[in-house]
Amino acid sequence: MKKIKQDIIDRLNGSNRVLITAHKNPDGDSLGSQLALAGYLKSHNISCAMIDEGEIPGKYQFLPNINLIQDIDKIIENESSSDDKFDTAVVIECSNLERIGRVGKLIGDDCHIINIDHHQDNTPFGSINWKDPSVSAAGELIFDLIRCASAPIDSDMATNLYTAILTDTGRFHFSNTNARCLRVAADLIELGADPERITEEVYFNQSRPSLRITGLALSGMQYLNDGRICLISVDRNMIREAEVANGDMEGLVNNTLKAKGVIVGAMFTEIDASTTKVSLRSQGDFDVAEIAAIYNGGGHANASGCQIAQPLVQAREVMIKLFKERLDGSV
Ligand code: 5GP
Repeated sequence: MKKIKQDIIDRLNGSNRVLITAHKNPDGDSLGSQLALAGYLKSHNISCAMIDEGEIPGKYQFLPNINLIQDIDKIIENESSSDDKFDTAVVIECSNLERIGRVGKLIGDDCHIINIDHHQDNTPFGSINWKDPSVSAAGELIFDLIRCASAPIDSDMATNLYTAILTDTGRFHFSNTNARCLRVAADLIELGADPERITEEVYFNQSRPSLRITGLALSGMQYLNDGRICLISVDRNMIREAEVANGDMEGLVNNTLKAKGVIVGAMFTEIDASTTKVSLRSQGDFDVAEIAAIYNGGGHANASGCQIAQPLVQAREVMIKLFKERLDGSV
């Protein structure tokens, strides 16, 4: 591990211009990790740009320097990418390169790709690949990297990294919560992260559409197989009615595991008449990453996702069949 970290540091320190990016529809871990890494590069006078595909959820607008993250669509619209030749691209939290979406257009053939991820199903698409599924969040890897470079972590970077770990562990609740991530979180608090404020900003500052869609979705929650399966469906009418924006439904799927006895939970979101986004959650040994992989998705054993090229109702039936087969062999 030490060797990979040193290779990454050497590559970054020798770069002229670095692209930092992560998966489409950024979340707390990807945003906090990108911002902290950019903080490191800035302190070493290395030019960089953070560019993502997808709107940044409102609840992350408090993150220090969030305004520096650019939207790929605006760059494509303004045709400004030609000025930005990157010799290194750091891709964070992506199982494969397709996950960065249109940002891929900015990565030329001669650009070195550094792949940093904590997903088990990460493929080695980079020229340097640092995958460590034992850590709670990509933010923990960025913390390690900066520490390995013996570089300072200021309070802005600490706030960003704490948010990354807080959100990817579901507020230090999911199975990826362990002593090590709590030690890192404690270090980050000592470095200036304010746990009360960050939790307030992320979890107690919800938009009204977010609460409206939660209400609509929970009122239609369904239990199957003696309460071992729990399902939520969100169709386009509900999205319209609640006036949902990007990020307003982040974490909604976690409600499926709240009732006692549920082993697998799923949220089905209607993207269009023939495409459904499936978010999966599970308890214990029930592996939902394996199910998501059937549809070219991925994630972790207890939290994963995929898109199915079928209408919501059919996608739901397909998933119910897969769940039942694994729970009790029945179909
Ligand atoms: P969420 O349900 O919170 O969007 O995602 C849970 C986990 O599954 C995250 O680790 C996320 O990166 C992963 N995930 C969600 N959707 C997809 C997908 O379409 N493809 C892949 N490879 N991973 C996904």
